[in-house]
Amino acid sequence: MASMPNKKPQPLIQSRERPRCQVCGEISYSLAGIHPQCEVKRADAIRMNRIKCDASAVTTVQVPSGFVPCQKKCPKCKALLYARKKMCGCGHTFSAGAGPPLSDGKRS
Ligand SMILES: [Zn+2]
Ligand SMILES: [Zn+2]
Repeated sequence: MASMPNKKPQPLIQSRERPRCQVCGEISYSLAGIHPQCEVKRADAIRMNRIKCDASAVTTVQVPSGFVPCQKKCPKCKALLYARKKMCGCGHTFSAGAGPPLSDGKRS
């Protein structure tokens, strides 16, 4: 029985540090240093918040990663939610000033 030489594939030499995604913090191999899906997600979140916060003073569009303005905290589970969210994952519903949702579409 001949011993097989354990040939491991040579890993790529990391000559420079890989840029990390600004959104999720994971190493990104894209040129921009940010995952395309993360960029879309972040841009969408910023855009939505800008629309939502238009009336209230928006100091800057440069939102630090991880921080999203116009958030509200669920009083039940203390989870941070988007202000436009009407319902929390725990089942808590936020009364947005409007009346209770119609369970039955039939009204006459
Ligand atoms: Zn990412
Ligand atoms: Zn909740």
